[in-house]
Amino acid sequence: MNIATHPFDALMEITARPAVVFVRGEGSLLWDDSGKRYLDFVQGWAVNCLGHSPPAVAEALAAQSKLLLTPSPAFYNAPSLKLAKALVEQSCFDQVFFANSGAEANEGAIKLARKYGALRKGGAHEIITFEGGFHGRTLATMSASGKKAFEPLFEPKVSGFPKAQWNDIASVKRLISDKTIGVMLEPIQGEAGVWPATDQFLGELRALTKAHRLLLIVDEIQTGMGRTGKLFHYEHAGIEPDIMTLGKGIGGGVPLAALLATEAASCFEHGDQGGTFNGNPLMCAAGLAVLEHVAEPDFLKSVTDAGLYLESELQRISARHGLGEVRGRGLLLALDLKIPIAASVVALAFEDGVLLNAPRPDTLRFMPALNVSRAEIALMIECLDAILAKIGAARRVA
Ligand SMILES: *Cc1c(COP(=O)(O)O)cnc(C)c1O
Repeated sequence: MNIATHPFDALMEITARPAVVFVRGEGSLLWDDSGKRYLDFVQGWAVNCLGHSPPAVAEALAAQSKLLLTPSPAFYNAPSLKLAKALVEQSCFDQVFFANSGAEANEGAIKLARKYGALRKGGAHEIITFEGGFHGRTLATMSASGKKAFEPLFEPKVSGFPKAQWNDIASVKRLISDKTIGVMLEPIQGEAGVWPATDQFLGELRALTKAHRLLLIVDEIQTGMGRTGKLFHYEHAGIEPDIMTLGKGIGGGVPLAALLATEAASCFEHGDQGGTFNGNPLMCAAGLAVLEHVAEPDFLKSVTDAGLYLESELQRISARHGLGEVRGRGLLLALDLKIPIAASVVALAFEDGVLLNAPRPDTLRFMPALNVSRAEIALMIECLDAILAKIGAARRVA
């Protein structure tokens, strides 16, 4: 028998993690087991849209846990019916399938598109995706992703995902054939370093896919649920996609995701799709509590305002330290540092009690709670400013 000698040893080592254990969170704050407090601009990777342990979600979970946890996906339950109806009312879609993770929702979107191709388009099955894209870590979603680091892994991949270039409509056109059934993209490429699709590109994609009878699939796992100041990012571009996936923010911190489709695209038949925990009442109750808050026009306006404030403060810092551009929308922003110091900045910020994320060696990403206060943004900026000054001084000496 192997006995783990270190408290961390019994967990599979899947990424480098700081050697602290987080025990409590509240809003934009997080505490570790030594009592140290952190200001959190990662928020579970853009998950905790209402901050850590928001009372609305905690209360919904507590109340639902005493009523009904799981009747089985073969029976209806009230929270999933209510949440599906609310999502349909708030979007351009007609039907919802709930999942437990973003990758699972995307896997469902891929299956739905292939089913559509089998039924309505002579077996067409290819889905055009993009260089730099990220859609999850199942085999099909890794194959759909355009992440360079995934390329050598877990061969052979799932076939049928030709890659186009970002914001380049001609590169999409070149890949269309009679095997094509859809185009799938993140409105802002998040994991790649916050690279927005232009509203013009989204409009062109909608026109192109319509003209070729292709499905337009938006992966709004990171951009949806108010993150960019609209409930769903596609609204910015004034388009209506055929399929959308949601994850991360939709559960406000608990594992919930969703696949949404228009009536025309919603073509699963019995036996095509399912899952033991899918649409369980406990997670859907949390989702309802989240949606009730996030869909409020005043709340979305406050996200836009907070985003503009964070953006202008990042631009100020960038000018002061001679850094690059600020990218993104709402509260999904990136700062281009121009040199590969992002990991050092993240490590120094961690020491100072501020949690930041570096999606690339030269890029910082900011994905705070959607209800982050101006004072919290100002505190983070103050910390970042001091760290950049310190690194700048050290580089000038060296
Ligand atoms: C996080 C993410 C996923 C994967 O979601 P998981 O819940 O980690 O499976 C897929 N697409 C995008 C755009 C994401 O940001």
